[in-house]
Amino acid sequence: AYTIYSMSAPRLPPLPTIRDILKLYRLNAVKRLSQNFLLNQNLTDKIVTKAGKLAGSHVLEVGPGPGGLTRSILRKVPERLVVVEKDTRFKPTLDMIADSFEAINGKMDIIYDDIMKTNIESLFPVEKKRSWNDKPPDIFIIGNLPFSVSTALIVKWLHAISEQRGPWAFGRTKMTLTFQKEVAERLVAPPMGDQRCRLSVMAQTWTFPVLRFIIPVVSFTPLVKPRTQHNFEFFEMITRHMFSFRQKYSIRCVETLFPLERRKELGLMMYKLADLEPTLRPTQLTVADIDRLATAFKYLVEKQPELGLYNYRASRHLLPLKNTRDIVVQNCEEM
Ligand code: SAM
Repeated sequence: AYTIYSMSAPRLPPLPTIRDILKLYRLNAVKRLSQNFLLNQNLTDKIVTKAGKLAGSHVLEVGPGPGGLTRSILRKVPERLVVVEKDTRFKPTLDMIADSFEAINGKMDIIYDDIMKTNIESLFPVEKKRSWNDKPPDIFIIGNLPFSVSTALIVKWLHAISEQRGPWAFGRTKMTLTFQKEVAERLVAPPMGDQRCRLSVMAQTWTFPVLRFIIPVVSFTPLVKPRTQHNFEFFEMITRHMFSFRQKYSIRCVETLFPLERRKELGLMMYKLADLEPTLRPTQLTVADIDRLATAFKYLVEKQPELGLYNYRASRHLLPLKNTRDIVVQNCEEM
C-alpha cells in the first residue's frame, strides 16, 4: 500500500469577500486618512508574490485596513503575521481573519498603533536573526499605507537601516511598500534620470530599490456639463444594450431593445434618426453617437409607449451585467 502525502499548503477557512465586509461593517474609506482599499485579489496576490517567499517566515504588515492584502499574505502561510493598524474600526474584520488563520494553526497578532511610533524591533524572535553579510532573514515588511505615510516612513526606515536598528537589527530585512507613482519613480531613478533627487540618492545608498509594477491610478474630474442630457439609469440601460455583442455590428445590439418581430425595422429607424451607420462596431461608437441613439430610442418610445415596456423587461432579465470586474482606484491627493 502507498501513502499519498499532500504537498499543498493548508487552506484558510472561507471568509466573506472584502467588499461584503466593507458593507457589513459600514467601513467607508476615510478620506482624511487617505484610506483606499485594495479589493482585487489578483492585485493583492501579485504584491505579495513580489515580496518574496513568505512561507514559514515572520511578516509585518503595516496598515492592513479591511485585510485584502492581509489575506493574500496568509494564503502564503507565514509562521507568524503581525499587523499594525491605526484605525480600530477594522477590529471585527481583522479579528475574523486572525481566527480563520488560527484555525489552521497560524499565528496572527493585531496591534492598534501608529506605525511611526511602534517599537517594531520587539516583534521578531532572535532565532530569525542573520548577520548583515548573510542573505536577508525570513522577516518581511509589507504595506499599502497612505502615500504620505509611506514616504515619511521610508525616510525613517532608511535611517534605521543605516544604523542596523529595528527590523534591521535582524539582518537585511526586505520591505515591499506601495508609493505614489512619482515617488516610486524617484526612489529608483538612476543618475541623469528626470526624477533623480535626494530621495533617490538616500534610498540607493542604503538599499537596492526595485520598482515592481504600477497599480493603475485613475482620477475622475466630474464634467461641468455631462455629455448627455438623459438620466443615468436610461443612458446606462442603452449603453448596456450597445455592448451586448461587442464583435458584431452595433445595429445587432440596438435590435435587442425591441420585440423580435419588429427588430429589423425599428433598429434601422434608430440609425436613421441618429444619422449613424449600422455597420459601426460597438467599440467604435463615441459618447455622442450613443447619446444620439438614446435620443432616437426615446423618440420611438414616446411615439409607441409599448416599446418602453419591452425594453424594461429585457434590460432587467435578459441582459444582466456580466463579468463586472473590480476597479482599483487609488486616490492621489498629493498629485
Ligand atoms: N492595506 C489595506 C488595503 O490595501 O486595502 C488598506 C490600505 S489604506 C490605503 C491604508 C491603511 O493604513 C488604512 O487602514 C489606515 O487606517 C492605515 N494607516 C494609516 N496611517 C497609519 C499609521 N500611521 N500607522 C498604522 N496604520 C496606518
